[in-house]
Amino acid sequence: MLIRDAEVFGSGRMDVRTHRGVITECATGLVRLPGEDEINAAGGWLLPGLHDHHIHLRSLAATYESVPLGPPQVHTAPEFAARLREADRKLRPGRWIRGTGYHESVAGSLDRAVLDRIVPHRPVRVQHRTGVLWQLNSMACELVGLDGNDAPGVERDETGRPTGRLRRLDSWLGDRIDSRTIDLDAVSTAAAAMGITGFTDATPGLAQADIDQLADTVDAGRIVQRVHCMAPPEVSEPDGTRFTLGPTKILLDDFDLPPLDEFVDRLRAIHAAGRAVAVHCVTRVQFILTMAALELAGVRVGDRIEHGAVIPDQSLDWLRRQRVSVVTQPHFVVERAEQYRAEVPAEDQPDLWRLRSLLDAGVGVAAGSDAPFGAADPWSVLRAAVHRPPEFRAAEAVSLPKALSLFFGAPESPATPRGIAPGAVADLTLLSVSPDQAAHHLDAELVAATIVAGDLVYSGQ
Ligand SMILES: [Zn+2]
Repeated sequence: MLIRDAEVFGSGRMDVRTHRGVITECATGLVRLPGEDEINAAGGWLLPGLHDHHIHLRSLAATYESVPLGPPQVHTAPEFAARLREADRKLRPGRWIRGTGYHESVAGSLDRAVLDRIVPHRPVRVQHRTGVLWQLNSMACELVGLDGNDAPGVERDETGRPTGRLRRLDSWLGDRIDSRTIDLDAVSTAAAAMGITGFTDATPGLAQADIDQLADTVDAGRIVQRVHCMAPPEVSEPDGTRFTLGPTKILLDDFDLPPLDEFVDRLRAIHAAGRAVAVHCVTRVQFILTMAALELAGVRVGDRIEHGAVIPDQSLDWLRRQRVSVVTQPHFVVERAEQYRAEVPAEDQPDLWRLRSLLDAGVGVAAGSDAPFGAADPWSVLRAAVHRPPEFRAAEAVSLPKALSLFFGAPESPATPRGIAPGAVADLTLLSVSPDQAAHHLDAELVAATIVAGDLVYSGQ
């Protein structure tokens, strides 16, 4: 493929040629070869492809299939029925409708008969907003084997027939709905349109079967991006293109922190299995414990801190020296501003979601959306990184090229930006406008083309 007349990130205006998934030439005046595809960039900004370094693909896909069915989105029985019918029209045949946030004020008490009248031909489950109750239609009851089941929590009518109402059976139900069949195509398509060429899935505790399934989805072309997937040390890497295993994710919880020696042993065991660690640190205590544990266990190449929501000033030098990178979410100070204003203690405010101070200290930094817990749109992350809200230390804002670079890292070395040069992988994001114009209008609609391993996976034209 020949990309003509692009403003190449960090290099100036030229043509770029890719062949067999690799960039082969960057120069002015390249001549199109017979049979070669050509894109006229017309001075648009050509970037190394954007890699989202922290996302949860299946959870994000699940939100695509979820329909809010309670206040504030839905208030009346006709609205309720209309939302369900709309979801029924949009989803592929056989897919479950998953309703959330239901309350009796909308359409009274729900059971299978009520739901069957609205959507009879596809399985429907509606969660009460308290989370303790699921309401199923008849097809859903049948698919999960409710009729023959006597689990406590299965409500029955006078004749003994299940009503479709399940109390506190969330995980029982989850086990019976194969979430691995979840529709990842839509997530991939939407991301391609936003210029995303790769994902790092940061979901903890995936089993071999989950990983194999995900790799198959990538191999089948249903996910067009590269996927780097965090995994426990015992999981082995499946064959397949564009799929690699990442570090082992470790979750920490302030109310249940592991004793230091146990934590150190765990880090050592993961390292001994040849894997790096990615430790979830959203509080000061989690960060300090992780630092202490890594100091004792020893740092391995690729070890990373996820989030780094609170990082004390005195630790910046340690992070730099140990080459532990931080994968952060710059958009959280925008999306969660209200919560932070109300809940974050005053002493933590100066250390909250650092960005520029990390980069200035020489710490490796990359960005991830953490979708669906944050917005999946990298452009909203970029806006927040460049235009940081003044109340959360505006001095932590960075320039647009720096912000973009947070998405340029290779999957296995997130804080080392890739460049556009011969020999580099041909993962590219082309904007329709120049760098100056982009700076004035940071939005996904600027994306003109997305290229993964030399293949055009999205074209805005
Ligand atoms: Zn996450």
